[in-house]
Amino acid sequence: MRFEFTEEQLMMQQMVRNFAEEVVKPRASDIDVTDEFPMDIFKQAGKLGLLAINFPERYGGSGADTTSAVLASIEIAKASAAVANICSSIRHHLFCLYHYGTEEQKEKYMPAMAKGELIGSFSLSEPGSGSDASSIKTSAKIDGDEYVINGNKIWITMGNVADFSIVFAVTDPTKRSKGITAFIVDKDTPGFSVGKREQKLGQKGNPVCELIFENVRIPKSNMLGKEGEGIKIALHSLDSGRIEVAALAVGLMQAALEDSVNYAEKRTQFGQKISNFQLIQAMISEMATDLDAASLLTYRAAYLKDRGGKFTKEASMAKWFATEAVMKHTTNAIQIHGGYGYCKDYNVERYFRDAKLTQIFEGTNQIQQIVIAREVLKQWSK
Ligand SMILES: Cc1cc2nc3c(=O)[nH]c(=O)nc-3n(C[C@H](O)[C@H](O)[C@H](O)COP(=O)(O)OP(=O)(O)OC[C@H]3O[C@@H](n4cnc5c(N)ncnc54)[C@H](O)[C@@H]3O)c2cc1C
Repeated sequence: MRFEFTEEQLMMQQMVRNFAEEVVKPRASDIDVTDEFPMDIFKQAGKLGLLAINFPERYGGSGADTTSAVLASIEIAKASAAVANICSSIRHHLFCLYHYGTEEQKEKYMPAMAKGELIGSFSLSEPGSGSDASSIKTSAKIDGDEYVINGNKIWITMGNVADFSIVFAVTDPTKRSKGITAFIVDKDTPGFSVGKREQKLGQKGNPVCELIFENVRIPKSNMLGKEGEGIKIALHSLDSGRIEVAALAVGLMQAALEDSVNYAEKRTQFGQKISNFQLIQAMISEMATDLDAASLLTYRAAYLKDRGGKFTKEASMAKWFATEAVMKHTTNAIQIHGGYGYCKDYNVERYFRDAKLTQIFEGTNQIQQIVIAREVLKQWSK
């Protein structure tokens, strides 16, 4: 086993570090306060090839591996978790198109998405259906050569700025999870509209909206994958997305550790640096150890994904561990900063708010535990 990155991975890390330090970090607080989608930064990320790092060059990607994408996510998340999440969401949509799209669909959407000229969204969740994705109610009924979509989706990341959405709808209600199909719906299709935008706790600047479908007619050729394959596509892409969420948590934890160490070295109480106090050191040592453990779990999941084969359990382990750890340690980062940490003059309160989402989306951490247990029981039962 080698604990080293390749030259290409290190080059990607350095390039993204420069972008994050020079472009993203100076704007992070502003994005958090204004809650506006940072379109200019997004376009720059597209020009630098950061949206499609681990996709083939023929579809506009950089042809790098998932570890490179993970390293990029970590660097951007250190500066702004919202921007990192925007970039990794695009890779989530690209993953669906790359693995399940027809050649025509890939050519139409992927190169433009890779350049930041086209934005997608992923429409699975509904008011009555979150963790239990198979219980969605949005329907797609066949009518001649078209499908007619009706229903409501909520929590859709970038729903209000997206040019199209990958929409999951019931095509055969008698088959439950096997009766769900994915479709590509362009934003200008009559009957498709954007509803309420949610006011979130954190990850400001990365909008989340309701999407409404009222008799939206789309041609059969807009089906993504095969009829009845929707849940398979959703779960496969969520496995991959969970590695990126773990990376986001690792990036936030790195930022929390760096800020905590710097603050503890400068702040004095009782006539000495607070970093001399063993109770402060206990928080820092646990933060650093969990950061390493979370990073290693995330790199392992990325490596397994690139090697081919199943990585469901490892992606869930990385997501669960890293996101529990980031919540604990962004809380402790505020503790180390004392009262100052509770105010906006320091970044740790933003890290704390941004961290919470990582425990909820791409499958809550309770769902990750269910997935891990299911895989472990399968693996270890004789
Ligand atoms: C900011 C944000 C962005 C999002 N982006 C998207 C997006 O782009 N596209 C999209 O489709 N969705 C998106 N989501 C939705 C997200 O995936 C769901 O919020 C998530 O899957 C949980 O669903 P829920 O909120 O309905 O909670 P519920 O499923 O209702 O869960 C509520 C609680 O019950 C627990 N629970 C549920 N089932 C079980 C079980 N079997 N055993 C034990 N505990 C259980 C959960 O862990 C949780 O603690 C986003 C959500 C947020 C907040």
